[in-house]
Amino acid sequence: MTLASTFESIGCEVKRNFPMDKYTWLRVGGEADLLVTPQDMDQFKKSLDALTSSGTNWVVLGEGSNTIVYDRGITGVVLSTKKLKKIQILEDHKVIAETGAILGTILNKTVKAALTGFEFAAGIPGTVGGGVFMNAGANEGEIKDVVDRLWVWVEGEEIQLSKKTIKFEYRKAHLPPGSVVLKAMFVLKQGSRAESERSVKEYMEKRNETQPITMTNTGSIFKNPAEMAAGQLLEELGLKGYGIGGAKFSELHANFIVNCGGATAADVLSLIETAKQEALSKRRITLETEVRVIGDKN
Ligand SMILES: Cc1cc2nc3c(=O)[nH]c(=O)nc-3n(C[C@H](O)[C@H](O)[C@H](O)COP(=O)(O)OP(=O)(O)OC[C@H]3O[C@@H](n4cnc5c(N)ncnc54)[C@H](O)[C@@H]3O)c2cc1C
Repeated sequence: MTLASTFESIGCEVKRNFPMDKYTWLRVGGEADLLVTPQDMDQFKKSLDALTSSGTNWVVLGEGSNTIVYDRGITGVVLSTKKLKKIQILEDHKVIAETGAILGTILNKTVKAALTGFEFAAGIPGTVGGGVFMNAGANEGEIKDVVDRLWVWVEGEEIQLSKKTIKFEYRKAHLPPGSVVLKAMFVLKQGSRAESERSVKEYMEKRNETQPITMTNTGSIFKNPAEMAAGQLLEELGLKGYGIGGAKFSELHANFIVNCGGATAADVLSLIETAKQEALSKRRITLETEVRVIGDKN
């Protein structure tokens, strides 16, 4: 049995030679050998087991909003969490969400239920798994502020991790190596729907004014270095609006690269390299990407 037919027999949707520019938010990247989409959590765990014993190269993706795929694509399997979207609001202000649940949907549901704490996520695209992995944050809040417990798959076993055992830092969660997030529990507080709606509106207005939301982009390219905001640094280096091929640093916010149409991953990566070199040579600042680059480099 081929790996593709193993996934099909589990019940997953399987697409061969899938163009990853149709998956990621920046709309660049080559083909993945297989894009596998389990339809429920049981299929997801069976797929993870099959992948572990196969020895194949694989990666889990949520919405692909923080991911760039090389132009040569991905030799191996992309396991998508897009169908694992269940969200349950429990008593005691607790919320359990599957790994593919969209952060914005959790926000909408919790605000409607007059729970407060998730408002920081207004405008952050992506899923629970990607959000936890990246410790996504904005508006002075981060996933680490609201997460209480994770169900994680590690090397064939499902384990629970309580918040106390996880080290979170700026845009990174230190999970055991090889961890795949299955679901997460968030603990919020009783709030007022009207107040939460006001905060969300304010955060969204701020985002709309300062970020290129109408253009294809992948969020902040670089983490903010200790010295200053990455956007300010890039602006001071004269990179705002600077482009290579079909990609350029946004004229609205320099820490966003936008795809003006027809950009390749190589264009985007050249921009990233240019910015890193300029920051180092002119300001002695080391820039680190926030966005994740995956696939076959050469
Ligand atoms: C317009 C725009 C605005 C953005 N604004 C913000 C912002 O304000 N703040 C912020 O923090 N981010 C922001 N981002 C980045 C992005 O939205 C977040 O990082 C988001 O949490 C990524 O979720 P995702 O599901 O898209 O992750 P993906 O891009 O699919 O994956 C990101 C990483 O997480 C890993 N991963 C995904 N699912 C799992 C899982 N189940 N288990 C283990 N690892 C997993 C992937 O392998 C990959 O390394 C923005 C992006 C865009 C496009």
